[in-house]
Amino acid sequence: MAEYDYDLLVIGAGPGGYVAAIRAAQLGLKTACAEGRETLGGTCLNVGCIPSKAMLHASEYFEAAAGGAMESMGVEVKPKLNLDTMHAQRIDAVGGLTKGIEFLFKKNKVDWLKGYAKFKDAHTVEVNGETKTAKEVVIATGSSVTPLPGVEIDNSKHVVVDSTGALELPKVPKKLVVIGGGVIGLELGSVWRRLGAEVTVVEFLDQLLPGMDMDVRKEAAKIFKKQGMELKLSTKVTGCTVKGKKATLTLEPAAGGDSETLDADCVLVSIGRRPNTEGLRLENIGLETNQRGQIEVDHEFRTSVEGVRAIGDVVPGPMLAHKAEDEGIAVAEWIAGQTGIVNHDVIPGVVYTWPEIAGVGLTEEAAKERGAVKVGKFPMMANSRAKTNHEPDGFVKVIADAETDRVLGVWCIASVAGTMIAQAAQAMEFGATSEDIAYTCHAHPTHSEAIKEAAMGVLGKPIHM
Ligand code: FAD
Ligand code: NAD
Repeated sequence: MAEYDYDLLVIGAGPGGYVAAIRAAQLGLKTACAEGRETLGGTCLNVGCIPSKAMLHASEYFEAAAGGAMESMGVEVKPKLNLDTMHAQRIDAVGGLTKGIEFLFKKNKVDWLKGYAKFKDAHTVEVNGETKTAKEVVIATGSSVTPLPGVEIDNSKHVVVDSTGALELPKVPKKLVVIGGGVIGLELGSVWRRLGAEVTVVEFLDQLLPGMDMDVRKEAAKIFKKQGMELKLSTKVTGCTVKGKKATLTLEPAAGGDSETLDADCVLVSIGRRPNTEGLRLENIGLETNQRGQIEVDHEFRTSVEGVRAIGDVVPGPMLAHKAEDEGIAVAEWIAGQTGIVNHDVIPGVVYTWPEIAGVGLTEEAAKERGAVKVGKFPMMANSRAKTNHEPDGFVKVIADAETDRVLGVWCIASVAGTMIAQAAQAMEFGATSEDIAYTCHAHPTHSEAIKEAAMGVLGKPIHM
C-alpha cells in the first residue's frame, strides 16, 4: 500500500482551501495546505471581501455625515477625511482576520506549506523546492483579475488599477472611470464617489449587474445615477493611453459607431475574474481546463484525474466566498467518507453598495423560462422601519411557482438587503412556499417585514400597500 505524507493536501488557502483544510483536520485527516501568499485567507481576506467592506463601511459613515443624511436626523457634524486612517483600519481588519486563520491552522494541526505548489504527479506536489505526497489533493487556487487588452494595469502608479490597486489609492481621484458595471466596479466605485470622486461607469451590456433580476438591474441603475454616478451603458473601451498621472480612454458604442474619448485621473478595470491554473503544471497530471479556463468537477468535486478534486473560484459557478467555503466543507466531508452537500441552486449574492442589493435563486426571467410564476413585490418606501430610517429606495420581490407556490427566487434592494436575504435562502433550502413566508411572524419594525409583505403579495394581499 502506498504511504503518503498527508491524507489531504489542499492547494490555496482562500475561503475554499482554508475551510477544506480545517474541516478535514477536524474529521481526523492529516492535512496540509500550500499557500504562496505571505498571509492566509486568499483573495477574500487579503484583497477582496474584507478590505472592500472595510472601505465601504468607513466611506458610508463619511457620506452620511458629509452628504446631509445625519443632519436631517438632527446630528450636525462637519467631517474631515483622513484617508490614511481609513486605510489603516482596512489594513488592521485584514491583519486580524488573516492571523486568525493562521491560529486556526495551528489549533487544528493543519501544516501550512509556504510557497506555490506544482504537480509532479496526481499524488505528489512540489512546494518551494520540497516534495510532498498526499492520498488526495484539492485544488483551491481561486481566481485573478481578467485583463482588458489595450488597457495595461499598473497598481504602483495608481492611474490604471485593478481591484487591489483601487483599494489602496493614496488619494481620492478627481475623476474615476470604472470599466465594467459589475459587483467590483459598483462597490469600489461607490467607495471613491462617497469620498469625493466623480465616477463614470462604462459597461459593455445595456444594464449593470449581469446575472441579477432585470427589475433589480434597472432599479439599481436609477439609484446609482441619483447618487451621482455617470453610467455609460452599451459602451466598450477600445484603448487607453497614460501620460504622467492622467489616462485617456477611447470608447465606442458596443454595437459599433463613432468613438469618443474620456479623461480620468484613475481607471479601474473590473471586467470579471478568471481561474488560477497557470503554474500548477496541470499537464503533468493530464488535467485539462474547459473553454472558460475552469476545472470541471462532479458533485463530489472530483476532477477527471483520480485523487484530485477542485473547489471555489477555479471551478464553474458564482465566484463567491461563501460558495467556496461551503464547497470546502463538502469536499473535506467526501474525502473523509461522509456525504458533503452544496445546494448550488440556493447561493445568495450580495452587492454591498448603499442600498445593498441581494438575491437568491432564479431571476423572474429565468423562472418564466421554466413555467408559470406568480410575483409579489413590496417597496421599501412602504416598510415602516426603512421609512423611519430615511431609507426609501428599493423593494423586495418574491417569485413563486404559479402552481405549487414554492419560492423560486427572492430579490431585494434595501439598506440591509445582505442580512435580509439569509431568511429567503433558508426558506428556499427548506422548500418553503410564499405562504410559509407570509405566515411566518416577523419582528416589527424591521426591514425584513418587507419580505413577508412581498410574499403576501404573491397571494395578492399585502397589508401596507
Ligand atoms: P481565493 O480566495 O482566490 O484563494 C486562492 C488562494 O490560492 C490565493 O491565496 C492564492 O495565492 C493561492 N494560490 C494560487 N495558486 C497557488 C499555488 N499554485 N500554490 C499555492 N497557493 C496558490 N465574494 C463574496 O462572497 N463576498 C464579497 O463581498 C466579495 N468581495 C470581493 C471583493 C473583491 C475586490 C474581490 C476581488 C473579490 C470579492 N469576492 C467576494 C470574491 C471572493 O473573494 C472569491 O470568490 C473567493 O475568495 C474565492 O475563494 P477561493 O478559495 O476559491 O480562492
Ligand atoms: P462581474 O462579472 O461582476 O462584472 C464585470 C462587468 O464587466 C460585467 O457587467 C460585464 O458585462 C462588464 N464587462 C466585461 N467586459 C467589458 C468590457 N470590455 N467593457 C466594459 N464592460 C465590460 O466581475 P467583477 O465586478 O470584476 O467581479 C469579479 C467577481 O468577483 C464576480 O464574479 C463577483 O462575484 C466577485 N465579487 C463578489 C462581490 C460580492 O459578493 N459582493 C464583490 C466583488 C467581487
